[in-house]
Amino acid sequence: MNKFHSTLPVDADGYYGRFGGAYIPEILHANVSRLSEAFHRYAADEEFNRELDLLLRDYVGRPTPLYRADRLSEMYGTNIYLKREDLCHTGAHKINNALGSVLLAKRMGKTRIIAETGAGQHGVATATACALMGMECVVYMGALDVERQSPNVERMKMLGARVVPVHSGNKTLKDATNEAIRDWCCNPDSFYVIGSTVGPHPYPEMVAHFQSVISREIRSQLLSQTGRECPDYVVACIGGGSNAAGAFYHFIDSPEVRLVAAEAAGLGVDSGQTAATIHVGSEGIIHGSKTLVMQTPDGQIVEPYSVSAGLDYPGIGPLHAYLAETGRTEVLAVTDSIALDAAFRVTRTEGIIPALESAHALGVLEMKRFAPDDIVVVNLSGRGDKDMHTYMALKDTLKNT
Ligand SMILES: *Cc1c(COP(=O)(O)O)cnc(C)c1O
Repeated sequence: MNKFHSTLPVDADGYYGRFGGAYIPEILHANVSRLSEAFHRYAADEEFNRELDLLLRDYVGRPTPLYRADRLSEMYGTNIYLKREDLCHTGAHKINNALGSVLLAKRMGKTRIIAETGAGQHGVATATACALMGMECVVYMGALDVERQSPNVERMKMLGARVVPVHSGNKTLKDATNEAIRDWCCNPDSFYVIGSTVGPHPYPEMVAHFQSVISREIRSQLLSQTGRECPDYVVACIGGGSNAAGAFYHFIDSPEVRLVAAEAAGLGVDSGQTAATIHVGSEGIIHGSKTLVMQTPDGQIVEPYSVSAGLDYPGIGPLHAYLAETGRTEVLAVTDSIALDAAFRVTRTEGIIPALESAHALGVLEMKRFAPDDIVVVNLSGRGDKDMHTYMALKDTLKNT
């Protein structure tokens, strides 16, 4: 049988430099090592990969287009390509990982899936995969998010998932994650689907693997469109880091490709109202992994803030903490207002309404100068339907609309 080899800079214990690992309660050790073993086995299994590839093609709609945005390119004086993850079934890249993970769960003989969700995108993607594969699905969601994101709550319910509102803490993603982990400890036979490149090893590696299809496609699409496999820049937003991990994956070992990560600055890196974890965080442990965390000097988590619910997380995947620390990625902190401006500009020059998260990646076009012959690929992680309410409420705060 083939052995799976990740090209990520990760060791056998799940460390990316000094970040990563698996900091979990004793009761989950056996469970997590079984998961690790199954993931490494099936990631190299031809039959598993054939089934997943078929689903990605016929169910998700892959490959997603790599679109040369002519008007945007002209506006910024460079060559901008948008990787259209917004065209995936359910509207964002999250379905890539949800399908891979639930298919793995099925192979492992699991029948019950647990997930946590913030804005609800990962919850919808997981509920979708569960409906497709006939699995029981329980989604934990902060009570405040249940109120703020009601269309996604309704979608999950229609898909047959049970949505459990979490009333502890400040009733958002971090609290939902704690509750999902608690459920998993009580029900170790369930399969926990994590929605980003966070959590204990092997999750960051596994989620990056399921998202790596994004950069695999970019390489071959760029080759056929431009005669070059490698762009000068790949730009992506990072919440926990899964769409960025997918967009960077097959370029990490190509040093001529500059990788740019956009984190959410909120009202500004020094404003106290931010989610720019790499800029303001320090080493700590959150949700099972050692990484950069927004925390007080005595280790209390600092509540993050961003206009974008999907980037509003006080940690960052260990892969991204490592890539930033080693200088492999350049990390820009993009404020709410730059992201909002970028969202309206792209909508009105290209007719594409991006997700608020993706708008942070597009904000990089405002903050950085590119040369006329540069090729810049921006990962458009999702579509903006879910954010219409926010866009309409904030549009009067913009300069040019
Ligand atoms: C969830 C989400 C993100 C942030 O999550 P990552 O794991 O950092 O990718 C970004 N964009 C969209 C559209 C999302 O739904």
